[in-house]
Parts: sequence; structure tokens; C-alpha cells
Amino acid sequence: MSKQIELAKFAGFCYGVKRAVETVKKLKLENPNKNIFVLGELIHNSQVIKELEELGIRTVDELPENETGICVIRSHGASPDVFDEIQKRGFEVVDLTCPDVKKVQQQAVQLAKEGDYVIIVGKAEHPEVIAIKANAEKFTDKIAIINDINQLQLIEDEIKTHKKVGVVVQTTQRIETLQSILTYLVTIAKEIHLVNTICKSTTMRQNEAKELAKSNDLVVVVGSKKSANTTHLAEILKNISATIHIENENELNDFSDIIKKSKNIAITAGASTPQNIIDNVYKKIEGGQE
Ligand code: SF4
Repeated sequence: MSKQIELAKFAGFCYGVKRAVETVKKLKLENPNKNIFVLGELIHNSQVIKELEELGIRTVDELPENETGICVIRSHGASPDVFDEIQKRGFEVVDLTCPDVKKVQQQAVQLAKEGDYVIIVGKAEHPEVIAIKANAEKFTDKIAIINDINQLQLIEDEIKTHKKVGVVVQTTQRIETLQSILTYLVTIAKEIHLVNTICKSTTMRQNEAKELAKSNDLVVVVGSKKSANTTHLAEILKNISATIHIENENELNDFSDIIKKSKNIAITAGASTPQNIIDNVYKKIEGGQE
């Protein structure tokens, strides 16, 4: 059966990820004799992490003892204490926090300074959320991370004691998550200051993918299962059409039945998915090697 395959325009690296990967490679070229450490995975893609390791750029969870060099802060950002610690240890800092993530940190700080009870919409364990909270915590201890209504209900009594509630959102969240939390929040808060900080790249990617899901039998989402933005994308699309989430072309073999049955297939990808993986998925579906 011949297939129509449609590739999303907003698939793959966003500008924040592109900037991080290109800058870190350039940094190594310009500083061949210096150690370069990235604190946490620069992006959630094992192929890219391996490529960086081969260039001598090391991914670490903690800075090693008895070594010096450059320490890179990835696009998710980091807490002020992490920056202080790096400098205290004698490392140079190169801050590659995405400008859109910086804006969320600044907005959360601003809301905290204005005396709002600050709500960050996102998952508590997400590194971007941890850093947003840590920045705002320098100015307030009235702060909560909320990912769903159940979590909001747990702090409902506390919220009711505050005059103003300020809300920011982790940049790759689903708009539906924000909407449901706000719908509940308006019933319990006196005054709400919302700053919708979902980034433009995420909004365009999600909106385009929703349209593709409406006009295709199947959507293939390509990207790491560890990547929050890719996982959110797949979750949104599952409510609209048949959707599969794969990390690379090899996983297509697990879905050969549904791929064979589908006449129109759309392919999209998360912000940390390299172009060559997207191309390989496209070619494999086009070649009917599923
Ligand atoms: S997804 Fe958005 S916020 Fe995150 S790195 Fe990309 S552009 Fe920046």
C-alpha cells in the first residue's frame, strides 16, 4: 500500500538546543587544552552525548576533584548556588541557559519580589523547574511546584490565606496542563498573575503536531523517552490520533502492524532530536522496511 508521509516543519532541535550544542563544540575548538565539563546531559540524546565525549567534552553530575577547566551550564539553567559553587571551585562558567528559560527565572523572581505566592507549573524533578524554584527562593519561601489539580488541592488552604498568586510555567509544558490548573485556581485564589512562559518553539511544535494528528492516521514522535518536551508532545497527540513514540528508527520494528495499516503518516520530533535520526525514521518508513 502506498503511503503519504508528512514531516513536521518544527521537528528536531529548537534554537536553545542548537545554540547549546554549537557553542559547546566551538568552546572546545577554541580551548583545545582546557577540560570542558557539562553539568548534566547537555541534551537528552545519547548520540549527541557520545559525540561530545569523543570531542573531549565530558558530561558530569558533579565537578571532579583535583581538576580545573570550563564548566558549562546547559539550556535548563541552574540554581544560583550551583553557579557560586562552580566559581568557588575555580572553574570558569559558561552559561548556556536558554534565553527563554532565563525569562521564566526572572518572572518567578519578579513575582516573588512583588509578594505573590509563586506557583511553578511543571514536574518537581525537572532540572529547569528546580532552577526556577531555586532562583525565586532567594526572595520568598512561599512557593510551590504543581503538576496537576491533586497537587494544587494539597496546598489549597495555604493559597486561600494569600492575597496574590503568581504563576509561571516550565517552558515545554502542555498548555492543557496549565489550563486545567488555572481553571481550579480561579475558584480558590483572590488575585492571579499569570505569566505564560511556555516557549514559542514548544507552542509552534505542539500546535503543528496537533494539526498533523487531525489529518493523518498515525503520528510518529521521535525523541528520547527522558526528554520532557518529547513526552509531552506524544501525550498531547495520543488524545487526537494513533501515536507512537520512538527513540530511533530501530524501534519502528515494534510497530510494524500499525505502520502497515496506516495510509497517511506524519512524523514529528522533540527539541533534542538530531536531524539524522529524524531522516533515518523517514527513510525507513518510506522504504517500507518496517
Ligand atoms: S524548548 Fe524552548 S526553552 Fe527549551 S531550550 Fe528549546 S527554545 Fe529554549
